[in-house]
Amino acid sequence: MAKVGCLCGAILSDVDCPSDNIIYIYRYYELESVLTQNANITLWNYYESTMENHLYWYCNKCGRVYKFPNGSEAKPDKIYRRETVTEEAHIMDMIEMVAFSDIEIDTITEYNPDICLKEFLDNRLCTESYFLDKSSGQVYVFDKENCKIIAKYCVEK
Ligand SMILES: [Zn+2]
Repeated sequence: MAKVGCLCGAILSDVDCPSDNIIYIYRYYELESVLTQNANITLWNYYESTMENHLYWYCNKCGRVYKFPNGSEAKPDKIYRRETVTEEAHIMDMIEMVAFSDIEIDTITEYNPDICLKEFLDNRLCTESYFLDKSSGQVYVFDKENCKIIAKYCVEK
């Protein structure tokens, strides 16, 4: 795969390395369980062994997120559209998600190749956190500064 047209008209590409259209999404408990088994695992080793299954394409222009079948140039399995949430949202049964950008991983491992996954997670500066609502399948975006849900990712396809 090299280039993908987003539904908004933008062109997404993984030609640049790192690419600002590539992100990796994990469930937080998966990271915790890895750290329980191996507290000293490096970010790089973890990333390298898991990246393929966690790779998503991201549009900087409209915020859509695409999941493609592994190793194929077929149509996306899933498309998530970001929408602003205006009313108060209540999430009952949720799973925290973590998203890393390709650029973030590349920058930190270039500067500190042996950084541990735990150290990386503990020191990340994120303004947003993400929660998957198990009942609706939507992912809510929580603004840490305002302590408010500001957006949600809905399954578009
Ligand atoms: Zn887009």
